[in-house]
Amino acid sequence: MSETDFDIIVVGSGCAGAVAAYTAASAGKSVLVVERGVFAGAKNITGGRIYSHSLKKVFPDFEREAPLERRITHERMAFMDPASQLAVDFTSPELAEEGRDSYSVLRAPFDQWLAEKAEEAGAEYICGIAVEELLKDEGGKVCGVRAGEDEITAQVVVLAEGCNTVLAERCLGNPRPKPSQMAVGVKQVLELPSGVIEDRFLLPEGEGAAMLFVGDCTHGNVGGGFLYTNKDSVSLGLVATISTAADGANEVPVYQMLEDFKNHPAVAPVIKGAKLVEHSGHMVPEGGYDMVPRYVFDGCLVAGESAGLCMNMGYQVRGMDFAVASGQMAGQAAVKALDAGDTSAAGLASYKQAMEDSFVIKDLATFRKWPHTMEGWSSMFTDYPVMAREVFNAMFSVDGEPQRPLMKRMMPIVKKRGLLRLAGEVRKAVRSL
Ligand SMILES: Cc1cc2nc3c(=O)[nH]c(=O)nc-3n(C[C@H](O)[C@H](O)[C@H](O)COP(=O)(O)OP(=O)(O)OC[C@H]3O[C@@H](n4cnc5c(N)ncnc54)[C@H](O)[C@@H]3O)c2cc1C
Repeated sequence: MSETDFDIIVVGSGCAGAVAAYTAASAGKSVLVVERGVFAGAKNITGGRIYSHSLKKVFPDFEREAPLERRITHERMAFMDPASQLAVDFTSPELAEEGRDSYSVLRAPFDQWLAEKAEEAGAEYICGIAVEELLKDEGGKVCGVRAGEDEITAQVVVLAEGCNTVLAERCLGNPRPKPSQMAVGVKQVLELPSGVIEDRFLLPEGEGAAMLFVGDCTHGNVGGGFLYTNKDSVSLGLVATISTAADGANEVPVYQMLEDFKNHPAVAPVIKGAKLVEHSGHMVPEGGYDMVPRYVFDGCLVAGESAGLCMNMGYQVRGMDFAVASGQMAGQAAVKALDAGDTSAAGLASYKQAMEDSFVIKDLATFRKWPHTMEGWSSMFTDYPVMAREVFNAMFSVDGEPQRPLMKRMMPIVKKRGLLRLAGEVRKAVRSL
C-alpha cells in the first residue's frame, strides 16, 4: 500500500466516530479524528437515553467509567390533548437488568468521555475544524480529507458526520434525504435538585424516568414530545417533521410548541421552579430502513446517522445504540481491510456483512413500514387524544345523576369516530410495529 499520513481518518466524533476511532486505535492502527466542534459533543444533542447493549460490547466497564445520568427504570407513554393526559406508566426490575438496561445521558460530557477513550487508545484529535472535502485518487478511491488548508491522507476514511450528510452527498453521491424522512428536534435542559426530581417522578435514588408524549405537544402534528430525568436536571423537548417545522407550514412555530408543551397542565407541575440551563436544536432522521444509503465505498465507510441509522417508534427512540454498534463494526472492518492490504470497497465489504447480520439493519428492516404508517396517521395526533379524554372522563366522572352502564357510555364516543375505521387504523399500525 502507498504511504499515507494515517491508516484511518475519522470524520466526526459523535457516538459512531469516537467508537470507530477507539476500535481501530485499540487494534494498533494510526488514527486521526477531525471534529468540527471545539470539543467532542459541543454540537451534539440527543433526547436522551442510550440503550446500553452496544456500548457494553465496546466498553465492558462503562457503568463505572462513563458520565451516565440515571438508569431508566420508569417508562411512560402519554396521549395529550390541550387540557388532558392519558398515560401508561410502567416500571419493572427487568428494565434494569444488565444487557437490556438504558441510561439518560447528556451529550457534552458523554461525547467527551468517548473521545478520551479513543485518545487513550492512541487516536489523535483535531477539534474546531470541519472537513470540507473527501480527497480521491485518480481511480476515484477516497484517500484522505481536506480540512481548511490541510490535505491529510489515509488508507480508509470513516465518515461519521451525523444526520446532516453534506460530505456523503457531495463527495460520495449519496442521495439527499427527503423532507418527509427528516425531523427537527428542539430540547431544553432544566435544572432541578436531584431529590426534587425523585419526589416528582416517584423515583428511587439514582433511578430515572423516560417519558414520550403524543398529541398536543406538537399541536396535533406528526411528531412527539420527550422528557428524560438526569441527575439534577430534566431534558425536555419535542420532535416535529420538517414539513411541520418549515416556515409558514404551520401557524405555530416549533419553539412556541415547546413553550406550550412546558405549560401543559401535565408537564408544568413537574418542571415548576426549574432553571433553564441549555436550549438546543438538531435534525433527526426518521425515515428508517428506506433511507439507509450505500455505506461502503472504495476507501470509505459511512457510520451512524450519516448512514440513516435511527428509529423513532413512538415508544422507543434509538440512534445512539445504532451509532455505537456501526462505529465498532466500521472500525473492525477498516482494521481487517488494512491487515489484508485491500482497502477498496471489496476489501471493506465485511462492514456491510456485519451490519446486515447485526440488530442494526435487522431492526430497521423489521420496522420498515412504521415511518410510513406514522406519516399518514393524523388522527393519532389529533382525534385519538381527544377520544381518550372523552372515554376516561366518562369512566371517572361522578355527578350524582343515575349512571348508565359503562359500555353504553363508551360506545357513542368510539362510534362517532367510526368503529371500522378505528379498528382498521389500529390493525395497520400494529402490523407495522
Ligand atoms: C431531539 C433528539 C432526540 C433524540 N433522542 C434520542 C434518544 O433518546 N436515544 C437515542 O438513542 N437517540 C436519540 N436521538 C438520535 C441520536 O442523538 C443520534 O442518532 C446519534 O447522536 C447519532 O450519532 P452519530 O455519531 O451518528 O452522529 P452525531 O452524534 O450527530 O455526531 C456527528 C459528529 O460529526 C461532527 N461533524 C459533522 N460534520 C463534520 C465535518 N464536516 N467535519 C468534522 N466533524 C463533523 C459533528 O460535530 C458531530 O460531533 C435523538 C436525536 C435528537 C435530535
